[in-house]
Amino acid sequence: MAEANAFGLPNGQPIASAWSRVIRNQKVALRKLLDNARFVNASIVRSEVDGALRVWRKDLDAFTDELTGRMTPYMASVATRSGNAIRSRAGLRKADDWFIRDPARVQALEATVLDLCKDTLDTIGVEVADKIATIRAELIRGEIDDGTGGWKDLYTQLDKYFDDSAKWRSARIARTEASRAANWGIRASAEELDDLIGFEWLMAPGACEACQRVGKGPGGNPRRVMKSDKFATDVGPKITNVDDPERRRIIPEEYRQIAFPPLHPHCRCSLKPVFVPLNGSTVVFDRPYSAGGQYIPNTAEIAPLDLSA
Ligand SMILES: [Zn+2]
Repeated sequence: MAEANAFGLPNGQPIASAWSRVIRNQKVALRKLLDNARFVNASIVRSEVDGALRVWRKDLDAFTDELTGRMTPYMASVATRSGNAIRSRAGLRKADDWFIRDPARVQALEATVLDLCKDTLDTIGVEVADKIATIRAELIRGEIDDGTGGWKDLYTQLDKYFDDSAKWRSARIARTEASRAANWGIRASAEELDDLIGFEWLMAPGACEACQRVGKGPGGNPRRVMKSDKFATDVGPKITNVDDPERRRIIPEEYRQIAFPPLHPHCRCSLKPVFVPLNGSTVVFDRPYSAGGQYIPNTAEIAPLDLSA
């Protein structure tokens, strides 16, 4: 299904391929470890299964670097392209290496991508551990009768989890991060221009309630912030599940301090530079939306999208 994409944001197919491959390989890797545990001792409630899970999660961490290494050059090229579009509109010459010319910029991008990869892989690790814990609890309560002591159910559910995840999670990361790169390029390139004074949120058609809140100023017009300001600050808590060391999650600041869209996964909003008006009129700016550590309420369903469609 074609989606409304008014700003030509890329869908990030190369990112989707990289993630999809890693997730599918993880399905096989975990299955091998569980098969070994099953061979040693046939019960899914035994510690051998915990051991297998631990080994797998440790190996999973190692993919942070690989995924970051694959995503960063692609995102830098997307940022370069969108930044070049701003440069030509401002009458500057295009520069092929515009983005990567500044090592600090590349490092900042790489650090962001690393955060996102680590956070996502952690989430996958926790979700798999939760799945296994649920099936064990069901087995203990006598709710499972698959003739194999829960192994069949466990394998079926894990296969489904990885297959689904390879599809929707890969597509979600790809679109969200490709859009982050494109908007990053716009902001970073415009910030270098002398007569740039601020930025305006460009609302995607059919944008969700959260984006309406952040993307519109108090008067209902698109939110305009000064060059030095973010669009939204302190979105959601810094840490979730504080009391549970297994599920404790430090939220990457890129998700909380919004200098440009995406505001949330699948966000298709963008931004545009605001320049000194040629007629000498004054531009009125809005303050950033301050979320004060709360999530921004949103009732709209943010639908996953199949990139192969
Ligand atoms: Zn939105």
